[in-house]
This record gives sequence, C-alpha cells and structure tokens, in this order.
Amino acid sequence: MLPSCKEVAQLASENIDTPVKGNRWLKMKLHLMMCTYCRRYNKQMNLTQETICKMDNHSHDGSDDLKKQVFEKVEANYKKAHGN
Ligand SMILES: [Zn+2]
Repeated sequence: MLPSCKEVAQLASENIDTPVKGNRWLKMKLHLMMCTYCRRYNKQMNLTQETICKMDNHSHDGSDDLKKQVFEKVEANYKKAHGN
C-alpha cells in the first residue's frame, strides 16, 4: 500500500530536517517514481534546501524565518498544482 500524495508531501518536508529511512523512505521513493506532482514537489524542496544551506553559510540572522517562508511558498504551489 503506497502512501497518499499528502503523506508523501509530509515525508518530503520531514526528509529535509531528518532523513527518512527504511520502509517509509522506500514508500516515498516508490510514490515519487509514479507521481509527477510529488516528484516535482520533492525536487523543489531539495533545491530550496540547497539554496537555504548556501545562504546559511553567509548569514544566520533570521534564516529560520526565511526558511519557513520559502517552504510555505513551495507547499502552496504544490497544493495549487495538485488541486487540494
Ligand atoms: Zn503524489
């Protein structure tokens, strides 16, 4: 039984802070293989994370707030594209 798009979105954002492992990781990967929307979302998340990491090297001031804002934007875009 594969997780729903909503669950995968949650796993993807969880994966940013703490790498998802084992069975849950496998389920996420399987879902990503089949679902274009989640694949795009996951890619965006990873890109966002990379960008924030680079920014963190330069400044620590308010980076948490910025991080939150960026993730919220990515999530909003995903929901818009996904229709829920
Ligand atoms: Zn999906």
